[in-house]
Amino acid sequence: MSRKKPVDQMSLKIESRSVNESFARVAVSAFAAQQDPTVEEISDIKTAVSEAVTNCIVHAYPASVGEIYIWVGLFDDGLVRIRIRDRGCGIIDVRQAMEPLFTTKPELERSGLGFAVMESCCDKVKVSSKVGKGTTVTLTSVSYTHLRAH
Ligand code: ATP
Ligand code: MG
Repeated sequence: MSRKKPVDQMSLKIESRSVNESFARVAVSAFAAQQDPTVEEISDIKTAVSEAVTNCIVHAYPASVGEIYIWVGLFDDGLVRIRIRDRGCGIIDVRQAMEPLFTTKPELERSGLGFAVMESCCDKVKVSSKVGKGTTVTLTSVSYTHLRAH
């Protein structure tokens, strides 16, 4: 879907350290707050970002610290688009990875529900990945408060 330019956007680059997961979640939700989201919408954005960033930390760069690139675009129709990208190991089979309960790290007590949670918190989740190159997760949400007000 091609869209107009965002009315506002921001980029963030963080290291894949677990302490940065909460920072990413708060930074993205604080920026998205401009769209006048409800408390529930903000909470969904936080949850989805948290799952995507955790995946970069745990899976993309399992044995090292790498960079996580976050971009957020806000559109005049209330749409929020969040892109979370890593240059880590990549995903062999994206369709399989997105199936609920699929995990490659059962030994770390991962439940394989991250993508399912992102899908339940966002209107759309798109994943593209190349083995050895990295993964991009695009989360799209629409603020219904914004829709109602316009
Ligand atoms: P949970 O999120 O419930 O703790 P999980 O992380 O294994 O468990 P998902 O978040 O649904 O479950 O991810 C499914 C699988 O997709 C992961 O086990 C991993 O193999 C792969 N994966 C997800 N994100 C990435 C990423 N950024 N880089 C490489 N592999 C990934
Ligand atoms: Mg996960």
